[in-house]
Amino acid sequence: MSRWNKVPESFIILDQDKCTGCGNCIIICGANVFELKDKKAVISNLNECLECGNCEVVCQADAIQVHIPKAGTGIIYECG
Ligand code: SF4
Ligand code: SF4
Repeated sequence: MSRWNKVPESFIILDQDKCTGCGNCIIICGANVFELKDKKAVISNLNECLECGNCEVVCQADAIQVHIPKAGTGIIYECG
């Protein structure tokens, strides 16, 4: 189980000037946080982010920075 607590700051930074529109972030993100608009990635669904960091790893243009939200905000994983 999990729940999501609102994060006050933008914890994923996407630099559209660097984005090449390759689509890697869209393919890798299991939470469908990104979409392609006018051949550039945009963040459209941040509230579903699982904080895995994969999007930053696969972006070869170095256009994405993931800053894990403070404890108690963002995704809260619960066991049981
Ligand atoms: S992986 Fe990087 S370069 Fe590719 S679409 Fe996403 S943000 Fe743009
Ligand atoms: S950190 Fe993971 S879940 Fe969040 S946007 Fe990146 S790939 Fe998607």
